[in-house]
Amino acid sequence: MADCIFCKIIAGEIPSTKVFEDETMLAFRDIDPQAPEHIVIVPKAHIESTNDINVTNSGFVAAIFEKIPQIAANCGFAEDGYRVVNNCGKNGGQTVPHLHFHLMGGAAAGKMY
Ligand code: AMP
Ligand code: ZN
Repeated sequence: MADCIFCKIIAGEIPSTKVFEDETMLAFRDIDPQAPEHIVIVPKAHIESTNDINVTNSGFVAAIFEKIPQIAANCGFAEDGYRVVNNCGKNGGQTVPHLHFHLMGGAAAGKMY
């Protein structure tokens, strides 16, 4: 999608620090980390938010969750655990309208609210 920051990162038009990539997803370090380890994982397909997950694209989401343990292990924080967060829409605090999952580790997480 033309004006989407994450589509531009996927296309290589905006630089990112990649930690994993395959044919359906890209994982890169968050530019404004909220944890010692903060990785953003996006499907390469432009899906706007969790509200747009459906039977035809949910496989991309499943693929991301299947890969999360490996990404966390490769980054060295799987064993102590981690938090996976998805922000959806205005009340969810979503700022980039391309579906993504925050993978955060490296320290004990606090309460969500
Ligand atoms: P959200 O608020 O859930 O939509 O999360 C968007 C995340 O993308 C935020 O944590 C931002 O810090 C992160 N972000 C925005 N632009 C970039 C970028 N160019 N490279 C890496 N992370 C980014
Ligand atoms: Zn996009």
